[in-house]
Amino acid sequence: MLEMFLIIFFALGVFFFLASLMKPINNKNLAENELKLVECSVCHNDFDENILFFKNMGQFNHKFAFCENCMEELYLDYQNERIGRVGKRKILTENNL
Ligand SMILES: [Zn+2]
Repeated sequence: MLEMFLIIFFALGVFFFLASLMKPINNKNLAENELKLVECSVCHNDFDENILFFKNMGQFNHKFAFCENCMEELYLDYQNERIGRVGKRKILTENNL
């Protein structure tokens, strides 16, 4: 019986000795390659944070994230509305003259 305990104790000793010789896994490289997903504030889809545009806005200076598609869509909508407004202004000034 005592022999069995000695064998088990020796086996555990060898195991912990070998375990102490092993190098820990380098988590730095794994973390660098890992994608950090952030939700777009407009379409609510998740994107890699490196391709998002961040802007602090609002009363509480909250940080908002915008994806490329939403930015382009907002810009195009704004451009179209602006063109529409300039057109209306031209018609109004022509009518006033
Ligand atoms: Zn979006």
